[in-house]
Parts: sequence; C-alpha cells; structure tokens
Amino acid sequence: MSRRSVLSRLGVTFGLSCFLFAACQHEIPPPEITLVTPLEGEVLTRDGELTFTVLAPEGMLHEITVRVDEYPVRFPAVELKRFGRFRIPLAVLELGEGEHGILVNAVATEDDARSAASAGRLFTVELPPATLENLVISPEMIHQGQPVILDAYFEGTVASAEGEMFDRSFNFYPVESGCWRAFAACRLFAVPGANGLTVTYTDAYERREVEEFVLTVHEGDFASYHIVLSPSVGGKLLETETTERESAMVKDAVKKYSPEQLWESGPFRRPVEGGNITSPFGEKRTFSTGGGESHIGTDFGGLPEGTPVYAAARGRVVFAHEFVIRGNFVCLDHGRGLFTLYNHLSEIAVSEGEMVEAGQRIGNLGQTGVATGPHLHFEARLATWAVDPMTLLAEGLSFE
Ligand SMILES: [Zn+2]
Repeated sequence: MSRRSVLSRLGVTFGLSCFLFAACQHEIPPPEITLVTPLEGEVLTRDGELTFTVLAPEGMLHEITVRVDEYPVRFPAVELKRFGRFRIPLAVLELGEGEHGILVNAVATEDDARSAASAGRLFTVELPPATLENLVISPEMIHQGQPVILDAYFEGTVASAEGEMFDRSFNFYPVESGCWRAFAACRLFAVPGANGLTVTYTDAYERREVEEFVLTVHEGDFASYHIVLSPSVGGKLLETETTERESAMVKDAVKKYSPEQLWESGPFRRPVEGGNITSPFGEKRTFSTGGGESHIGTDFGGLPEGTPVYAAARGRVVFAHEFVIRGNFVCLDHGRGLFTLYNHLSEIAVSEGEMVEAGQRIGNLGQTGVATGPHLHFEARLATWAVDPMTLLAEGLSFE
C-alpha cells in the first residue's frame, strides 16, 4: 500500500468516525489521567512509586488498568469516583536493571470505546553494585584467643556477607543501615603478626565480591604450669583416640548454631558464685605423665562439689551428657556462632534441646571425667574457636 493510500484510508476512517460521533446523542468525555511519578526518564536506584490521578469529568469511570512493561499490575479494588489518586509501589529488584514503561488506561464507560484514555511513561532502573566502604576491627589490639568484632560498612544493598579467618568461616548480620557485624575469634594458636582475613559479600543481584584484609595478632600473655597427674588419670589424656573423638563431637556441634542471637545483650554471668579462678584461659600445661596442652577454658575452683552451676547467658542446650574426658558436660548454643561449655559437673539439670535462661541452674560443680579435684572448667567458642570466656563476662557482645 502506498503512502498516499494509507493516508487516504485514514482520512476515510476519520471522516466516518466524525459521522458516527455526530450521530451519538451524548458523547461521554474520556477521563483525564495525570502521571505524577516516576518522572519521564527518571533513573530509579531504589524502590519508588507510581502515582497518578484520574479525573472523570462527568463522574463516569468504568475501569482503570495499569501495565508495567506490558504486564498488568494487580490493582486494588477501588470504588471509582469522579476523581482518584492512586499509588502503586515500584520494586526495583523485581523490575531489574534497564528501561521500563508504564501505561495507565482509564475508561469512562464500556459502551463507548471513545471514552477511553491512556498515559504512558518511561523510566530506568539502575542498581550499582554494593561496595565495602570500611571494615572496622575491634578491639584495636587483637591477642591470641580473643573474640574479634568486625563491622563492615557497605554502600548499596547487600544480601549476605561472610568472613573467613584461620580457615573457619563466620556470618555477618545487619545491625543498622549499611553496617553488618560479625563475631569472629582470634585463634589461641594463631601465629603472631599478619594473618589473612577475607570478607565475601553478595548484593541483591547475587553479584559476589571478595576482599582481603590483614589481621595483626599479638601474642597472649599466658603462664606455664606443671600438673602432677596419677598414671591412671594421665593415661586417659594420652588416649588420643578418646580425646580426639570428644573434640571432634564438640567441634561438629559448634558448627551448627542458631542464626538468631539468643542471648540478651550485656555481659555474661559468672557461671558459679564465689570461689576463685584456679587456672586461667591459655595456660600452657605440661603433665607429669607426659605430654601437654594449652588450657582452652577458665577453671573455677575453691568450691565444694555440688555447688550450683548457672547458664552464663540465654541459650539452647546442645549437649547434656557424660564424656570420658569432659565428664558430665553441658554445651549451650547462644546463637550466631557463640557457645559456652561446662565440664566435670557432678550432676546435669537440663536436657538437650531445652532453652535455658541466663542464671538458670544447669547442673552442679563436680570432678567427673579427667579432673584433679572439684572445679568447673568453663569454655566459650566463637566461630568454632575457643576464646577466653572471661572477655564475655567483662564486656559482653551484641548485634544490637
Ligand atoms: Zn579447665
């Protein structure tokens, strides 16, 4: 069809419509649609809103339909009046990056096609990738066996963030706008000096970034101690199969933790009342029966067998049973990779799976397992590594 014939056909059609128009007794004027937001050509980098008004001059409004990129938008049932203002959320993640179009249609009466009006608009969604702007490591001086707080400050939307130190990974959790916090541990046996620290994060589009940092480790100030053991007690410690089996069970258990913070913010409670610390965390021990170890907990002694032992914080009981080395043993999951462990109890007062409150009695102090006398061996684990439990009692940790 030539250009001229198209035009002439349009002309004919136009003429015919005019004729029909004139034949109608009363013409229903189309509604007036005003698109307010987004602005024409606007670039959205975060969620926005489609807002528009519809005015029906004669109070007749049959239907409004909205399409975003040709897909009809579920439109809330509204009582259509002469004038209406409408809002529809625009979620940038659902829309995706690129150019998008909006088309609003309004019909005054379904009997007359000429009573329809429409308005359209184009806008663009841009989602810049998230970036890690700053990583704050606390405390300023990191010593062996100490909890480490990592605050990652991001620009843009982050979906998940994970860290890795000393071959163990840990999660970051959002604490406030743009800031994600992780509790990690400086390994007791970490080599003093520069150690690797990796932060991996994904944005809302699952775009993944890996960044390398350095964690400077300072040597802990740990005393040495020689322990005289009877051959039968010392023999048990040298049964490496038993020791390793118990350690592996505990290590496996502390990998599976509650993703929520179960403990209440603030310092942890001392697990016993009275007594004194008979052996601190990190002490380098040698045994009269041979071998040696570094003490990975804090011992509370100077207390009679049967002294109540309390949960240091709110948590869920992961273990509540007897081990060869640890004796009657309770392990509490406080969430987000933080655990406390209670060894050598004379009696266990809780069961596995139970939630306990801070200060709730979980058992009594004893000397079951491998112990030279009644005492509580109290441990803390963070990102699976043993950390000095006294730091939790002194300062506490919080994601709030
Ligand atoms: Zn101990």
